Amino acid sequence: MTVEPVSSTFSAEFFPQLVTNGFLEKGDPGEGSGKSFPVIAPASGARIGQVPEMGAAETRAAIARARASLDHWRGLLPKARAEILMKWHGLIRRHAADLAYIIHCEQGKSLQEAGREVVGALAYVEWYAEEAKRTYGDTIPTTDAKKRMFSTREPLGVVAAITPWNFPLALVVRKCAPALAAGCTVVLKPSEETPFSAIALLDLAARAGLPDGVLSLVFGRAEEIGQALCDSPEVRGLSFTGSTAVGRQLMSGSAATVKKLSMELGGNAPFIIFDDADVEAALEGLIASKFRNGGQTCVAANRIFVHGDIYERFIGRLVAKVMEKGDAGPLINRQAVVKMTRLVEDAERKGAVIRCGGRPRSRPGFYFQPTVLSEASPEMACFDQEIFGPVAALYRFSDEAAVLELANRGAAGLAAYVYTESLNRAWRFQERLAYGVVGINVGTTSCESAPFGGLNQSGLGREGGREGIDFYLETKYTCLGVPG
Ligand code: NAP
Repeated sequence: MTVEPVSSTFSAEFFPQLVTNGFLEKGDPGEGSGKSFPVIAPASGARIGQVPEMGAAETRAAIARARASLDHWRGLLPKARAEILMKWHGLIRRHAADLAYIIHCEQGKSLQEAGREVVGALAYVEWYAEEAKRTYGDTIPTTDAKKRMFSTREPLGVVAAITPWNFPLALVVRKCAPALAAGCTVVLKPSEETPFSAIALLDLAARAGLPDGVLSLVFGRAEEIGQALCDSPEVRGLSFTGSTAVGRQLMSGSAATVKKLSMELGGNAPFIIFDDADVEAALEGLIASKFRNGGQTCVAANRIFVHGDIYERFIGRLVAKVMEKGDAGPLINRQAVVKMTRLVEDAERKGAVIRCGGRPRSRPGFYFQPTVLSEASPEMACFDQEIFGPVAALYRFSDEAAVLELANRGAAGLAAYVYTESLNRAWRFQERLAYGVVGINVGTTSCESAPFGGLNQSGLGREGGREGIDFYLETKYTCLGVPG
C-alpha cells in the first residue's frame, strides 16, 4: 500500500508496516499464485496498493491450517480464549486511528465515519470475549428414573466467513469474534475492494497471541474461493454477508456437504413517516439511515413513504438539509455510480421529479450527488432494487393499510422504520412489518447487544447479541444411565 499518512494521529509503530510490501507478505503470501490485484481508493480512483491474488489452492491450504489448529483452540478454557480476544480488543483500540485511516483509504467513508466503525467493531469484540464464558447448556428434567439428561454446547469446528466492502472492519469482527469465542477456527474472505482492514486485523490478532492457523485470510478469485469453501467437508459452517444473489449461490454450493449457514443478505428498507410524526426527528433519522456511508448500508432507507399531509413540507426540509450537508462521500467503484445514474434516469422517465442532485460529480473518484426524488412510484426500478447509494426516493401515501402492504411487498425483510407519535400505530407496525429489524422513531439500530438479521430472503440467522454466538456452537445431548 503506497498511501502516505495524512494525519499526525497515526502511530508510527503500526501504520508504516502497512505501507510496505513487507507487511503484506507477512500478512499472508499468495502461496504460488504469483499474481496480485490492485486496490483502488474510491475517493480518488487512484491505486493505493496491491494484494496477492489467491484461489482454490490457497483456500484449501487455509482450511488445512484451520483444521490443524482446531483441537488446540477449542481445547483452551473459554476464559483463555476470552483473554486473547480482549488483548486483540486492546490492540484494536490502541490502533483505532490507524484502522480508521485504512478504512477511509480503501472504502472511501470519511475519517469520522471510519472512526465510528472502529468503535462499533471494538464493541463486538468485547461483547463476544465476554460471551465466550457464557455458552451454557441445559440440565433436562429426566423422563426416566434411571437416566440423567443434559445438553452441552461445543464449537461447530472450522468455519468460513465471507464479508463485503461496506463495513470492512466491523463486519469481519461481527463474524470472527463470536466464532473465535466459541472455539471455532476461521477462514476469512474479505472483499477484494477492501482487503487491508482485514489484513490489519489479522496482524493485530497475531500480536494478541492468537495461535497460527486459527484465523486465516484468503482473497482474490471470489468464485473459486467460494467454491473451495463450499466443497470442503472440513468447513462445517459458512457465514456470509453480501448480496442475495451470491448468498443463494453459496447456499446451493453448500448443500453437498450439508453446512450450517448464516446469511446476512440484501435489504430494501421501507421508511414510513406518518403525519403525526415528529418531523425534525424523522428528518434526522432519515438522513442518518439514507446517507450514512454514502447510502451503502444494507439497512439504508430504500423506499421512503411520507404521508400526503406533510409530504411537501417534509421534502422541502429534506432538500434543504441535504444541500446543507453537501457531499455524500464517494461510492465504492465506477459501477456503483453507473447504477445510481440508471436508477435516477429510470425514475425520471416514469414520473419522478429530481428535487436535488441526480448526477455523477465530475471529479476524480466515484461520486454521485446526494439526490432527492419526489413522486416515486412502485413501477420504478428503485422500488424493487436495493439502491445502495445516496438517492432518496419519496413515495406519497394517505392510507395506513395501503402503506403497510407496500412496505411488506417484495422478498426482502431486513430492516424497516416507522415514525409516528401514536403508540397504538407504532405497535401495530412493530407486529405487522415483515422485517427482522424494526426501528420506531429511530433511524439507526445496530449495536453489539442486539440480534441483527433478516426475514424472508434477507437472510438466515442473527449476528450480535446473545444469539450471535449460537451459529458457531452445536448442541450435544447426553443421556447418562444411573442404574441406581
Ligand atoms: P457481494 O457482491 O455479494 O460480495 C460480498 C462478498 O462475497 C465479497 O467478499 C465478494 O468478494 C464475495 N463474493 C462475490 N461473489 C462470490 C462468489 N461467487 N462466491 C463466493 N464469494 C463471492 O456483495 P457486495 O456488493 O460486496 O455487498 C453489498 C451487499 O451486501 C448488499 O446487497 C448489502 O445489502 C449486503 N449487506 C448485507 C448486510 C447484512 O448484514 N444483511 C450487511 C452489509 C451488506 P469480492 O468483493 O472479492 O468479489
